[in-house]
Amino acid sequence: MNLAEFIIQAEAWNANINIPLIRKAYEFSDKAHAGQIRESGDPYVEHCLHVALILAEWHLDSTTIAAGLIHDVVEDTSIKLDKIKQEFGEEIAILVDAVTKIGAVKFQSREEQQVEYFRKMLLSIAKDIRVILMKLADRLHNMRTLEHLPEEKRRRIAAETREVYAPLAHRFGIAKVKSELEDLSLRFLEPEVYADLVKRVELKKDEREEYIRRIVTPIRKALVDAGIKAEVYGRAKHIDSIYRKIKIRKVPFEQIADLMAIRILIRTKAECYHALGIVHELWKPVGRKFADYIATPKPNNYQSLHTAIFGPEENIVEIQIRTHEMHHVAENGIAAHWLYKEGKHQLDKTDQQMLWLRDVLDWQKDMTNPSEFLEFLKIDLFAEDIYVYTPDGEIKHLPAGATSLDFAFAVHTEVGLHCSGAKVNGKICPLTTRLQSGDEVEILTSPHRHPTHDWLNIATTSNVKNRIRRWLKQAGYEQAVALGRELLEQELKKRRQKLPSNEDLLTVAQGLAQTSAEGLFYIISNGTVSANQVAQKIFPDKADEAKDSIVERVLDRFRSERGIKIEGISNMMFHFAGCCQPIPGEDVIGYVTRGRGVTIHRNDCPVAQELTKQPERMVPVTWDVSKDQNFVVRLEVNVAPRKNILAEITESIADSKTNVRGADINISDTSSTGYMVVEVNNLSQLERVLDRIRKVKGVISVKRAIGGEHSIE
Ligand code: MN
Repeated sequence: MNLAEFIIQAEAWNANINIPLIRKAYEFSDKAHAGQIRESGDPYVEHCLHVALILAEWHLDSTTIAAGLIHDVVEDTSIKLDKIKQEFGEEIAILVDAVTKIGAVKFQSREEQQVEYFRKMLLSIAKDIRVILMKLADRLHNMRTLEHLPEEKRRRIAAETREVYAPLAHRFGIAKVKSELEDLSLRFLEPEVYADLVKRVELKKDEREEYIRRIVTPIRKALVDAGIKAEVYGRAKHIDSIYRKIKIRKVPFEQIADLMAIRILIRTKAECYHALGIVHELWKPVGRKFADYIATPKPNNYQSLHTAIFGPEENIVEIQIRTHEMHHVAENGIAAHWLYKEGKHQLDKTDQQMLWLRDVLDWQKDMTNPSEFLEFLKIDLFAEDIYVYTPDGEIKHLPAGATSLDFAFAVHTEVGLHCSGAKVNGKICPLTTRLQSGDEVEILTSPHRHPTHDWLNIATTSNVKNRIRRWLKQAGYEQAVALGRELLEQELKKRRQKLPSNEDLLTVAQGLAQTSAEGLFYIISNGTVSANQVAQKIFPDKADEAKDSIVERVLDRFRSERGIKIEGISNMMFHFAGCCQPIPGEDVIGYVTRGRGVTIHRNDCPVAQELTKQPERMVPVTWDVSKDQNFVVRLEVNVAPRKNILAEITESIADSKTNVRGADINISDTSSTGYMVVEVNNLSQLERVLDRIRKVKGVISVKRAIGGEHSIE
């Protein structure tokens, strides 16, 4: 192909191409690649012309076509990016740079490199979607000419195409590129299988076409009778999809009835539904459902109605019904998008593909290790979609292998977070059930249900896993589980029983709408159920006999000597209540909060008095502090007007090795009230401090400040 031939062809796709720009890019590329020969024996620039031609075929603008012509210059010649910028300007330079950089990271087996590869690619696509189109055009031409490469290289490139580029084409909705890349990959990865399938498909082609005609003809007639102008045709499925059916679904070739499918293209959306009715009247539909991707487009923006009918001889035939515009989008995906929104190189937030891309870029920030990101790509990006119905008939798209739990989150995050079970096609099934396309799923919820750790293994998509993880973190879940577990252990100790294994606790847990012992511990800690009630359920005939047990009392003392903070509970998250600021030596009580561990109050604190109305959430606590641990106490002082009184008070305290963290006393003509914040180790030290302050001349009274704000801290 020479430049003149190229221009004639490109103009057929796009009448407005900028010929001087394209000529300049061609000449630049030709000169830069001079002397370089492809394995096929063609001069290198031939590849550049073909890539550019593919871009023209996708209706891309002259800028992209020109960038396509010089896309390998920086990578494969000594010319630097600066030179490109100088000659062709910023926009083209950015495109070439992005394509070059993606190429620079080799898709290798090392996880870090793979992740880096995808990250770079996705980031540059997010900046300018033309990058992915250039990358795909480049790959498409390389695949079309792969036969010239040595065997080993062929396999590597074909494998990479199947693993990376075909799925990306699919994600960006470019069905025709996806199919071609898949077929080419198969052709080079399994040449014999491929050749065999091509032969077999060819073999009964006439027979199949005749069969399809028997369905198409009556449909055409009925549509004409209904006044619907439509294009109705049979289409052969691509080789790779047949291969997958044989390999993955283990269907023998002879039994693959639907090697051909029927497509109906219509002018309007309303007519699509009308046509669907007509088809179902002519041929009995398979099952009671059809997929309505018009009302609910696939994540890659694909729209169509799908149905399957029993054709002549009871063979199942797939039928797709869509408008011409939907068809164009289905075949060209993001390229079509670009065509419709000329001059817009970035996707905006309303674009389906952009939502997906933004999600990916968002989630990958949360991912700490490469294998997690790869796992995510495998499942969220590359797995085939399945579609599942809500009881209202709404379609939800999920990656293949998704569970009822994933579905629950797809319905709504709140539904996911309180999901207690699922009915799949009317039957109660565990949340782990893997869903199939066409399943109808109803999620059962309970206000008492919430995520547990095992959910992380049940969910398959990273999005859902992240939401669960976030919830667990927010709710202080781990501490809560530990607390619940220890509370139950304590309760059982009173009955001189040991905590049964998690497995043995399952029945009790299930009786309380939980799926695991962990869930049980959690609801104990948040007060949904008391440890006592649970203990009662586990050992109905063991009364609480601990109260008078001497052994227990000795044990209790032993525990406190060992320095247990919250009785029997180690490593528990707790904090001191701001209202009463307890210090060691005072009688204290613990209150189990929802998700924030235990709050320690003084027994005589009015707030604590209020809290004890919920006895199931109170836990006994004892002090266990190291000698140099400080506690903050706020004091209220009443003083007579006297010079330097603040200094004297502070001095008096300093003697007792007590820190004064702050003071706020306004001396007026008569008596004044002020506040001081001091740090003490324990109650006796505080009492000494109070004594000393009282002895200062001019101090009328001093006491612990109860309640109120921490104005000085
Ligand atoms: Mn190239």
